[in-house]
Amino acid sequence: MDDCLFCRIVAGEIPSNKAYEDDTVLAFHDINPQAPVHILIIPKQHIACAADIDESNSAVVAHCFEVAALLAKEKGIEDDCRIVNNCGEKACQSVMHLHFHLIGGRDFTWPPG
Ligand code: AMP
Ligand code: ZN
Repeated sequence: MDDCLFCRIVAGEIPSNKAYEDDTVLAFHDINPQAPVHILIIPKQHIACAADIDESNSAVVAHCFEVAALLAKEKGIEDDCRIVNNCGEKACQSVMHLHFHLIGGRDFTWPPG
């Protein structure tokens, strides 16, 4: 999608600090990190939000979680990390292209605000 920020990052039109890439998934460091490790993991195909996951696209979502596990181990945060998805504007989704935040390297509280 031409007007989607993360599609433009996938296309290479906007630079990103890549952490992982393969044919279907891209991961890059968040531009405004909330922890020492803050990586965004996205499907390369445009899926707007978690509510749009269905049997036609769930394989790439599963792969996003495989990549999250890989990166968590690579960054040494596999024992204490958070994988977050915000779905919808009131849930603080600001980019309408499905993404999972892999966050770690500090202590967390629960529940989130
Ligand atoms: P969300 O609020 O869940 O939609 O998360 C969107 C995330 O994208 C935020 O954490 C932003 O800091 C991050 N972000 C926005 N633009 C960029 C960019 N150009 N490169 C990397 N991360 C970005
Ligand atoms: Zn997109």
